[in-house]
Amino acid sequence: MSLEIIEVTKRFGQATAVDHLTLTVPEGEMFGLLGANGAGKTTTFRMILGLLLPTEGVIRWQGEPIDYSKGHLIGYLPEERGLYPKLKVQEQLLYLGRLRGMKKTDILPEIDRWLERFHIRDYANKRVEELSKGNQQKIQFIAAVLHRPKLLILDEPFSGLDPVNVELLKEAVLDLKRNGTTIVFSSHRMEHVEELCEHVCILRRGRAVVAGALRELKRSFGKQILVIQGD
Ligand code: ATP
Repeated sequence: MSLEIIEVTKRFGQATAVDHLTLTVPEGEMFGLLGANGAGKTTTFRMILGLLLPTEGVIRWQGEPIDYSKGHLIGYLPEERGLYPKLKVQEQLLYLGRLRGMKKTDILPEIDRWLERFHIRDYANKRVEELSKGNQQKIQFIAAVLHRPKLLILDEPFSGLDPVNVELLKEAVLDLKRNGTTIVFSSHRMEHVEELCEHVCILRRGRAVVAGALRELKRSFGKQILVIQGD
């Protein structure tokens, strides 16, 4: 197992955002975290990333606690997009790649490859704020994967994208998976998860109400699984 979340709880004062959550994500798999707004998905991600400390429980990568001083293991596409609007696309990505310890000579061809793949090469020298929301989201995705992380966390990666861009992003995600990246992504849309994931967990008020292999869950719950994810 590459990512293990063991009996993890996160409390904010009296409120419990994540409640004794246990999940395991095998290496190279794509894992779907489902749940309505406020179910605890983002809080779980922020704990995996080391941005929040669990109140209780442990998170491990390949059997060890995650060493956050090595910032290269994880890539993160946050739900709230966090680009610098005044920077040009290429400057922005170059800056983020450098932050992750990449060499300029390695970053530039990688940026080029991704911009080409997402059909936005002409925007390399435009300021981020000049791009549409969908194109900004693609830049944010590139920022998450530029350093080739082993573990990729995608918080609602398809929200706000038109169908063409959803397909582009899905193909990119599938390619990363084929290359061995372990991917955890959240969605409140069952169809994306069904298409991409072998294992899922449905969170409700911080608790895993259903977890396991999607194929098995569908066999056991049938269409009810669509009902379970709502709150
Ligand atoms: P969404 O899709 O709306 O982001 P989510 O499943 O990601 O939902 P979280 O953002 O993890 O849910 O929130 C889980 C619960 O924890 C919510 O009730 C939220 O209000 C609460 N919460 C999250 N962050 C904090 C915080 N910093 N302080 C207090 N409560 C918080």
